[in-house]
Amino acid sequence: MRIVMIGAGYVGLVSGACLADFGHEVVCVEVDESKVASLREGRVPIYEPGLSELVLANQAAGRLTFTTSLKAAGRGANAIFIAVGTPSLAEIGSADMRFVHDAARDIAGVIEDFTVVVVKSTVPIGAGDEVERIIAERAPRDRFAVVSNPEFLREGAAIEDFKRPDRVVIGVEDDRAREVMREIYQPIESNGGPIVYTSRRSSEMIKYAANVFLAMKVTFINEIADLCERLGADVLDVSHGIGLDDRIGRRFLNPGPGFGGSCFPKDTLALTKLAADAKAPIRLVETLVDVNDKRKTAMAAKIVAACGGSVAGKRIAVLGLTYKPKTDDMRDAPSLVIVPELQAAGARVVAYDPEGLRTAKPLLPGVEFADNAYACLKGADAAVVVTEWDEFRALDLARVKASLAAPIMVDLRNIYPIKAMKALGFRYVCVGRGFGGEG
Ligand code: NAD
Repeated sequence: MRIVMIGAGYVGLVSGACLADFGHEVVCVEVDESKVASLREGRVPIYEPGLSELVLANQAAGRLTFTTSLKAAGRGANAIFIAVGTPSLAEIGSADMRFVHDAARDIAGVIEDFTVVVVKSTVPIGAGDEVERIIAERAPRDRFAVVSNPEFLREGAAIEDFKRPDRVVIGVEDDRAREVMREIYQPIESNGGPIVYTSRRSSEMIKYAANVFLAMKVTFINEIADLCERLGADVLDVSHGIGLDDRIGRRFLNPGPGFGGSCFPKDTLALTKLAADAKAPIRLVETLVDVNDKRKTAMAAKIVAACGGSVAGKRIAVLGLTYKPKTDDMRDAPSLVIVPELQAAGARVVAYDPEGLRTAKPLLPGVEFADNAYACLKGADAAVVVTEWDEFRALDLARVKASLAAPIMVDLRNIYPIKAMKALGFRYVCVGRGFGGEG
């Protein structure tokens, strides 16, 4: 199949590289010239485990190319995927569809033979109709079909998720388009991956409902963690105890500083807006958005409390800045609220992140950045784990204590054993583990 991928970001680049790896011929079209230039030189502009190797191998095999021009790439394509961003519209909260609509207009200008237009971006229910309308302004309706094919990959495990997904969802109402989609995803289907065919609107809804449900699980366990801190229970035992119930499941029951990232915050917000506009408000989701926003500020207050009620003039070492490990993505990361809150309370913040320093630096003015964890901790009045990178799990805790000016560790990801931390003489404050999070 000849495939065009519009947008070479976290989703477009991974999807394009994986589809090329399946044997398809893929051209990624990206407006950002610097991204295209660096990809052509074999440099991948984002951090995603295994992606550089996959891109390089498929470039070398001649199956994956990059361009800024859809005109040349689009002609003769069997399918053109739209994988551009759909960020939150400021103040309003609904998905900003500008980039998707621009892409649809570009596509309308290049369609010659029958082409399947695949919306991979996360879009509001009904967005496929609008994409169809925009393309039909210039291209005859019998020459294209618009399909919804939302993406469920997780950053940090994106290649595995794309190649061996829990399911592929395809919202298609045109038989020719269905055959093209079947052929594109045949390698996954033959590998036993379930393909769910549904209507376009149901497919669009599946994506929002899935993300919101997961965000709800995270928020639920965060609130249970707060209650555990009041009542002296251990949230990790609670997660384990409830998660063994098949109806509940263990995943996404890890308490922390509130969800962030490129999807949950904007998608939960977009669904509340969509629901309100449809006169069917989802109060559960409205509440979780509010609870999650407030949680990030509450985490800063937790750090201040652990430092004896004030961080004024204190040096606080922050370990981890990205919204989760194994990515350099800083979109809506809890650190973007927690760090400025600490600074506003008078703290001097020094931070380290294994892969996120390049993306974090412009977003966190006034922060001193360290080259490694021990350099970050040196002479600090307290340490805070914000992101649970593996390399923080195995730190030499005696050396951590010796590096710090005061043995205070606030672990917002529960990565250290309480007993060992206490035995070492730390004031160890974590999330939801006994009274006040102190065991
Ligand atoms: P991103 O910002 O990393 O990438 C989008 C890319 O599209 C950018 O490089 C941008 O320059 C490019 N672009 C914008 N308009 C363009 C145009 N007209 N032509 C060519 N290129 C254009 O975004 P992302 O994280 O890859 O997300 C893309 C979509 O996928 C969003 O709707 C998101 O909600 C959804 N999604 C993201 C993830 C994730 O983990 N990041 C997971 C599932 C779904």
